[in-house]
Amino acid sequence: MTAVSRTLPGVLYRRDPEAAEVPLVFDSPHSGTDYPRDFDFTCPLPILRSAEDTYVDELYGAAPELGATLIGAYFPRSYIDANRELGDIDQELLDAPWPGPINPGVKTKLGIGLIRRLAVPGLPVYQRKLSVAEVAARIERYYEPYHAELAEVADRLHARFGGVWHIDCHSMKSVSNAMASEGAGVNRADFVLGDRDGTTCAPEFTDFVLGFLRLRGYDVRVNDPYKGVELVRRHGRPKENRHSLQIEVNRKLYMDEDGFERNANLPRLKRGLHALVAALAGFVKERVAS
Ligand SMILES: [Zn+2]
Repeated sequence: MTAVSRTLPGVLYRRDPEAAEVPLVFDSPHSGTDYPRDFDFTCPLPILRSAEDTYVDELYGAAPELGATLIGAYFPRSYIDANRELGDIDQELLDAPWPGPINPGVKTKLGIGLIRRLAVPGLPVYQRKLSVAEVAARIERYYEPYHAELAEVADRLHARFGGVWHIDCHSMKSVSNAMASEGAGVNRADFVLGDRDGTTCAPEFTDFVLGFLRLRGYDVRVNDPYKGVELVRRHGRPKENRHSLQIEVNRKLYMDEDGFERNANLPRLKRGLHALVAALAGFVKERVAS
């Protein structure tokens, strides 16, 4: 495969110029494992790493050869979370008032806003306050370029094909902790699809993915407990033929959650997701002028 990649720092971008392009874009905002030198966290790294959606970019790695574009973050989600809105600032974490508008949501109260306060329940990421300049730099160097790249791809595909379908790719711990919306100790399904209660894509898009995965024997839930956050909210405008769906996959299906190693089932899951991408490429081709 001849893949095109760009050199925006912090952002993975892959597309295959030899594959016939389809208006399908995958983004993996939480699989980054390059911990920036100025992060300066004090909690243990293995605990901080449990916030990662480790290997999710790899799970969808075949998307470019099927004509889709794959975007991902190289930076870790615990450094700055591309799937939060900019106002989701935790003032408690800062040594001075944030100069812009803030709109801390439920996730911020749980310690997992734009910049995480807690690694896991009860364990702070830092033993210090962050400066406003430090947070502003994370937004400028990592958050904004990530969003700019995804928006550029989505706009280009929409302009070319008249429609664009976006999958926001995540993974979830197999058992919830106390920072999860459903409370601690709940076993997760194999997959959770999120379209913010039917607002970020046409229902047929969610139904197509749901049907595909269920036919393969997976336990799949929709909008329960994850409905999708900032990325599907920004990009999902079904009236404009822009469709966004979040897919959460259970980490036990592909990795050892404590040791962060791939498990023996990863290749099987990857083949299944490759087949899903191929089916989605067919789905979108039927819905646009070629
Ligand atoms: Zn995620």
